[in-house]
Amino acid sequence: MHKKSLQKLALGLANKDFSTIELTQYFLDRIEAHQDINAFITVDREGSLQQAAAADKLLSAGEAQPLTGIPLAHKDIFCTDGLRTSCGSKMLDNFIAPYDATLIRKFRQTGSIILGKTNMDEFAMGSSNETSYYGRVLNPWNKERVPGGSSGGSAAAVAAHLAPAATGTDTGGSIRQPASFCGLTGLKPSYGRVSRYGMIAFASSLDQAGPMAHSAADAAILLQTMSGFDERDSTSVDIAVPDFSEDLENNLEGLKIGMPVEFFNDDLDPGIASIIMNALREYEVLGAKLVDISLPNSHLSVPCYYVLAPAEASSNLSRFDGARYGYRTAEYDDLLDMYKKTRAEGFGDEVKRRIMIGAYALSAGYYDAYYLKAQKIRRLISDDFTRAFEKCDVIASPTAPETAFRFGDKSDDPVAMYLNDIYTISVNLAGLPGISIPAGLDKNNLPVGLQLIGQYFDEAGLLNVAHRYQQVTDWHTLSPL
Ligand code: GLN
Repeated sequence: MHKKSLQKLALGLANKDFSTIELTQYFLDRIEAHQDINAFITVDREGSLQQAAAADKLLSAGEAQPLTGIPLAHKDIFCTDGLRTSCGSKMLDNFIAPYDATLIRKFRQTGSIILGKTNMDEFAMGSSNETSYYGRVLNPWNKERVPGGSSGGSAAAVAAHLAPAATGTDTGGSIRQPASFCGLTGLKPSYGRVSRYGMIAFASSLDQAGPMAHSAADAAILLQTMSGFDERDSTSVDIAVPDFSEDLENNLEGLKIGMPVEFFNDDLDPGIASIIMNALREYEVLGAKLVDISLPNSHLSVPCYYVLAPAEASSNLSRFDGARYGYRTAEYDDLLDMYKKTRAEGFGDEVKRRIMIGAYALSAGYYDAYYLKAQKIRRLISDDFTRAFEKCDVIASPTAPETAFRFGDKSDDPVAMYLNDIYTISVNLAGLPGISIPAGLDKNNLPVGLQLIGQYFDEAGLLNVAHRYQQVTDWHTLSPL
């Protein structure tokens, strides 16, 4: 049961092989049995069973949509009316949003079930899920290793089949890198494709929500529900939403796959390089052509991101001051003291580090030297992609420079942690869509992800390219449990 695709689950519900209540109970039991993974911050047993009863009525009435009755897990960054939204932080440990994020509202409207909210790095800052106030998440493939981050709870939940699919968010790689570490298909849509209303902001010019699933076909179904213009999000783009499942089977004859010379060089781990090259050879068999391209400014993407993202975060997180949301310190002398103690006690170390870097980069004396300079570099990085796409249709790279690492390996060295996003970050800086798909296992039997980057708003093209590979390989069907 737990290994069925979304389409098969929907079929089972339609044929009355099982009810939504049975299906929901089944996943709730699995969540209970695998609590050690710590994938969830909140499990909504009662609520999900109530939603299941309502979905069963829709199914009986013949009013089902593709996700009606399908249990899903949502990253704890999306506001859910009546259900805690913590963003992985002590600051919001007691926060219950009075409204649904647009994405949640859309999932509710299709009749899908919210099993609960998944664990994550605090305020989505991290690549290993080690910064969560709720403790680390274990990688189901090897419980001594990290699941990736920041959407590590969603990734672990789907990899361990505690939910058939989940949502995540990606500011610099937080969907794709955990998808890569946990053997999943994770898609970061183009900036503006999915509404960010009600999604707690980290770095607003980079944040996007997207699906994490077992296959491109499943991801397409989720993306269909998530996408679309929202007047409540001024960065959401009013552009037609295609049928993401329609073109999955398109032929890849003549597709040009660009290989950035800056990524395929001697710095690339030989084990990962050989898996990625095997995947690309598979694409050649499917009719694609490999072409060399250049992204000459890609080496600047990590430093550029680590000026811009903290700058935006320092501004976004100023709202958490004890006066409006969540945590407030118990004892204080005056208003200023209340702010200081609340923020000192409510935020973890990584969040404080980012706020300090961001406030510094934005300060009057350093604004030109750091923030403005980083903005200019961002434009160069995005221009690199525009030029590269004159020569190819999609760009391929590894998703991450290594497979899932051990707990503690990088937690004392922020720069080593930041470098894990070396292949993913430039995609957010440019606002392009990117997908990670499982392409093999390394010598330790850990999943390796292939990243494919598409042109603006060509998620359908990326899903097609991913799906064709999944039709001829079975890496995406491997499972640790
Ligand atoms: N790992 C990156 C960071 O720590 C990206 C996080 C994300 O995409 N939310 O900022």
